[in-house]
Amino acid sequence: MKKFSILLLFLAAVLLNACATSAVPTITVETLPPTPTFVQTTEPAPTGATVFDAARAYEYNRALAVDIGKRVAGTPGGQAAANYIANEFEKSGLDVTRQTFSFEGWEDRGTSVNLVSPETITLDAQPIQYSVGGKVDGDVVLVPGLGSRDDFSKVNVRGKIALVKRGTLPFSVKAQNAAEVGATAILIYNEAPTGFTGTLRDQVSIPTIAVSGASAGEILQALKNGTVRAEIASDAGTVQRTGTNVIGTLKGKSDETIVLGGHFDSVSAGPGADDNGSGTATLLELARVEGSKPQPQHTLIFIAFDAEELGLVGSEAYVKQLSDAELSKMRAMLNFDMMGAGEGPLLLLGDGKVALLARSSAQQLKVEAHNAQMPANAGSDHESFARRGVDTVFFLRDYNLLHTPEDTIDQVKQEYLGEAGRVAERLLERLDATPLQGSKSQVMPTE
Ligand SMILES: [Zn+2]
Repeated sequence: MKKFSILLLFLAAVLLNACATSAVPTITVETLPPTPTFVQTTEPAPTGATVFDAARAYEYNRALAVDIGKRVAGTPGGQAAANYIANEFEKSGLDVTRQTFSFEGWEDRGTSVNLVSPETITLDAQPIQYSVGGKVDGDVVLVPGLGSRDDFSKVNVRGKIALVKRGTLPFSVKAQNAAEVGATAILIYNEAPTGFTGTLRDQVSIPTIAVSGASAGEILQALKNGTVRAEIASDAGTVQRTGTNVIGTLKGKSDETIVLGGHFDSVSAGPGADDNGSGTATLLELARVEGSKPQPQHTLIFIAFDAEELGLVGSEAYVKQLSDAELSKMRAMLNFDMMGAGEGPLLLLGDGKVALLARSSAQQLKVEAHNAQMPANAGSDHESFARRGVDTVFFLRDYNLLHTPEDTIDQVKQEYLGEAGRVAERLLERLDATPLQGSKSQVMPTE
């Protein structure tokens, strides 16, 4: 879980870097889009009637990102979003249930870092997320380099507070190296004057604190003249929190199911307009559209997942409670995450039949769409289903403002929501037209 959250952040950093250098796109779009030709022996011609309303989807997106704002799992913002979604699902005629689950969150209830000698200076500092708290005082020792084991072998930090420059090595590696040689805490400082935040990838036994470059300058200046003593008092640590998946069911004529999902939680950095207000909004509009149509063959399950940003926690909790029988009746999972902003075409990721059918649906609607490769360390909720053998497709668009305060509603384009929604609606129509597996006929159209 923690590991995953840093990986998501890492992806954000990589995307930003990629944007800055234009050298390595993180999402590798296939140069030749697959254009499968389905021999449609059993599939009726699409009706062509799409009623997905992009303006309405945008309004849902605005309500989530502006009226509610930050939707961090286990916080009042998250709860407000869950209530809003449940209410909208109900208005669309879905049977709504909530699945709650507990997870390990982290909280800083107050942290102060002060130099106490040669003079008293309050430092601009904050614990790195998932750091342990504690009260520590001791001499500050500047560690050369970037905090590798070798760097630590050149100084004696036993019983002291290590001061290490940010960069290259993960925070947890620097901190573990410090703890290994007996440091009582570690201050990781920025080269730029500003402060920063981060997340520990692995557990560390000592307080791990981020210090702004401006404050680091004051420490380094003081160190030039002799011994520097600091005091850390940090009331930070993990807390048990409760997350909520909101599940809206549209009963079909059979118990074979199609799942449509998207996470509604955001990171704490910003309002998550695209990540993932856009996917949640698309889900809400699809629920409204499908709820207004004649009863489908398949039972449609709409799920707004919580705590995706903490490592797919909500979708994992959902698939975990499914029986083998329920899993075996799940024909497809469509995941919507971050498809309302950014650059480039709609991406419909997946290598199974559902993704092929999705790309072919886009082609029918003359919407440009491609398959793509995600970086190995990035992910979203469809993976929880794919791991259980469910055929999935992931709706996405390359976007470099994820997990930043700039991920605001003005980044979201109504036409992008419309493209994703229309393709999903067409895909649903085609999936629902395929014979049920309970019957003896062919399962899916073949290529
Ligand atoms: Zn997301």
